[in-house]
Amino acid sequence: MLAAFSFEREGDASVGLEPGLAQHAGNASTGFAAPASSTPTLPPAGAASTCSPPAVVERRGDLDHAPHETPHDADPWRLTEKLQADQALSEDEWTTLIEGRTPNLADRLFAQARAARDEVYGRTVYLRGLVEITSCCKNDCLYCGIRKSNRQAQRYRMGLDEILACCEQGYAQGLRTFVLQGGEDPWFTQDKIVAMVRSIREERPDCAVTLSLGEWPHDAYAAFRAAGADRFLLRHETADDDHYAALHPASMSPKRRKACLFDLQRLGYQVGSGFMVGSPGQTARHLARDLAFLKKLNPHMIGIGPFVPHRHTAFRDEPAGSADLTLFLIGCLRLMLPRTLIPATTALNSVDAQGRMRGLAAGANVLMPNLTPPQYRDSYDLYDGKAASGLEGVENVARLKRQLEEAGYQVPSARGDSAVETERA
Ligand code: SAM
Repeated sequence: MLAAFSFEREGDASVGLEPGLAQHAGNASTGFAAPASSTPTLPPAGAASTCSPPAVVERRGDLDHAPHETPHDADPWRLTEKLQADQALSEDEWTTLIEGRTPNLADRLFAQARAARDEVYGRTVYLRGLVEITSCCKNDCLYCGIRKSNRQAQRYRMGLDEILACCEQGYAQGLRTFVLQGGEDPWFTQDKIVAMVRSIREERPDCAVTLSLGEWPHDAYAAFRAAGADRFLLRHETADDDHYAALHPASMSPKRRKACLFDLQRLGYQVGSGFMVGSPGQTARHLARDLAFLKKLNPHMIGIGPFVPHRHTAFRDEPAGSADLTLFLIGCLRLMLPRTLIPATTALNSVDAQGRMRGLAAGANVLMPNLTPPQYRDSYDLYDGKAASGLEGVENVARLKRQLEEAGYQVPSARGDSAVETERA
């Protein structure tokens, strides 16, 4: 176990993990039923896929159907036209589109998605600095490497000074948004999070602060917001209640998670949500429900990435989600909600070495370099093979910017607020 750190202002640098965290930990290798699934699941990465990779170099122009793919009413080709015109599809239509996707259709969808993105944001890519502040978690999500039952997980907590130093390093690299993410760690109380947000806002008034710290009561979200937090990321994970129950312990509620998202919106946050692609038991119908839920939520940001198994979870032998399907869904999301911000996520880049550029070519417009100090980075071990070095790291932001500019993107030093209007009750 790595050393744990307290906030300097508390004057106790030796605070360890909550005893409860260790006491509650079970044996990750026992006691977990495989997810119930009566419907066929989507193809795993590496399995024969109906979808070939989109070109990393963006192709423009030819939106014509391939000669062998003649459009019929309600066929996938017609559905992409309908999606572009209406910015919505029914659950049945989403299911048909996802199941019927082909390489040619994906290429056309990506071209449409890029055009939709460029109309709202131009060819701008926004960077956010990600600080993974704690690997301790009281939750036991079945897919996650830092779930409390994983006794082999390396646990750490960052102190306030360390967090501020990360922001300083990111600021020097031109980053103007800091995303503070972590497990649901009871040691990070409401007051500590308020102090953290306030300190960052005081030191960096021109920067946005994004929290990604799980489910909290309304009053806590309100306190974080009052302290200066601008944005909150909370993936709904899956919009289908039965599927949610297959991925989480009974103590976690999909209704509560969704209620948190609407709470955050009412408090005036820029809200991000999203889901994993290819999580165990997931079907095209589940994904259709995810897309319909996101349409209703209309979030400022949507993060999706492939599920990747972790060796110390019950899902260790499940196949990873497909990069191709993730990219296809990024294109769908962009056409459905053109004004939302969509990252090409670390998970996408972890299953596909070209994931970052392919994500942008499919309609994404955000990247999140990792600001977590090197001594902790490997311990924020959500899934096997999580990309944490190379262009993922803050130490290589200048190189990342060069690569993006060479590909024709602009990378401003800016907060990069969402073009989605903020709704307030
Ligand atoms: N505790 C916060 C929360 O619940 O939102 C933030 C931290 S949580 C670890 C961040 C995200 O990691 C989750 O929303 C989940 O989608 C993703 N994640 C966890 N395990 C994963 C896995 N095995 N594969 C892909 N993504 C995973």
